[in-house]
Amino acid sequence: PLVLGIETSCDETGIGIVRGHTLLADALASSVDQHARFGGVVPEVASRAHLEAIVPTMQRALDDAKVTLADIDAIAVTSGPGLAGALLVGVAAAKGYALAADKPIYGVNHLAAHVAVDTLEHGPLPEPAVAMLVSGGHSSLLLVDDLTNGVTPLGATIDDAAGEAFDKVARLLGLGFPGGPVIDRTAKEGNPRSIAFPRGLTAPKDLAAHRFDFSFSGLKTAVARWVEARERDGEPVPLADVSASFQEAVCDVLTAKAIEACRTNGVSTLVIGGGVAANSRLRVLAEERAAKHGIEVRVPRPSLCTDNGAMVAALGSRLVAAGVAPSRLDLPADSAMPLTTVSVAG
Ligand code: ATP
Ligand code: MG
Ligand code: FE
Repeated sequence: PLVLGIETSCDETGIGIVRGHTLLADALASSVDQHARFGGVVPEVASRAHLEAIVPTMQRALDDAKVTLADIDAIAVTSGPGLAGALLVGVAAAKGYALAADKPIYGVNHLAAHVAVDTLEHGPLPEPAVAMLVSGGHSSLLLVDDLTNGVTPLGATIDDAAGEAFDKVARLLGLGFPGGPVIDRTAKEGNPRSIAFPRGLTAPKDLAAHRFDFSFSGLKTAVARWVEARERDGEPVPLADVSASFQEAVCDVLTAKAIEACRTNGVSTLVIGGGVAANSRLRVLAEERAAKHGIEVRVPRPSLCTDNGAMVAALGSRLVAAGVAPSRLDLPADSAMPLTTVSVAG
């Protein structure tokens, strides 16, 4: 099927078009620069930016794919989770296009879309698989038996998300926002073993109740304390070493638990999605560790890891192909949409 996907859950206005597993267009407009001076996404600013960007981005996606709205078989849109006002812009636009062109509409889960996008790069996902979703708002391990039916949570962060930790640490190091890409770059010049930062929820006493859960707020605090101590002593802060050691602590725990989740569940495919999946060290370490256990790691290219419209189109395409009924035209924007809901029922 030819499916158009609309994404507006946070600060990226994304419109993607796919045919089956083939990506035809992935148009993106970001308001990230408008949020940089606030050190985080400002919801009201994001909503206004979506409203300005949505129609031109739609035009660009259709032009890039060399199709018209009439050619499209279905429209998929992020229904949640995300910022309420931001979601509303995409959902309202999708309804308008669906109504005007008389097309079925699918309100889909943004997090399931982060998992589905890998099919555009590596083809159908072998199921069951374990999915590790690591982004600005989430860090979860999920068991995926059939993505169209929902996923089973195995564990999640009990405090900060992995991307949030990157953003907060970058901020305290004065590296800017968003933190993930800049820490990734800065870490390349540093020694990941120079500072022993804590690995959250990996002690035997924590593993009993939190085997597949994550905790990153203690790590962030440890980095802050370490930097403060340096500054108190009048010593320069070695940004590259701190970045590399922090990044290593995050990637070590994420990959160790993801592979343990695969082994425990007898699963041989690990798919990683969400903005933090763009991290270069995470990709290498996951590959290295998975190979030892005969586990295949699937991570899409970095531009498909962060928020985009193609991921929504990819999930929509999967739903259409599986014969899932479309949503109704009065589908909601659900800022707290649970992971058990992959698409809004018709
Ligand atoms: P969610 O998907 O949970 O609703 P979101 O949409 O804000 O959250 P994404 O766009 O999926 O999140 O991811 C953004 C996050 O990914 C940010 O926290 C950013 O710092 C992080 N990120 C992006 N690139 C990298 C990288 N190379 N290394 C580490 N983190 C990264
Ligand atoms: Mg973003
Ligand atoms: Fe996201």
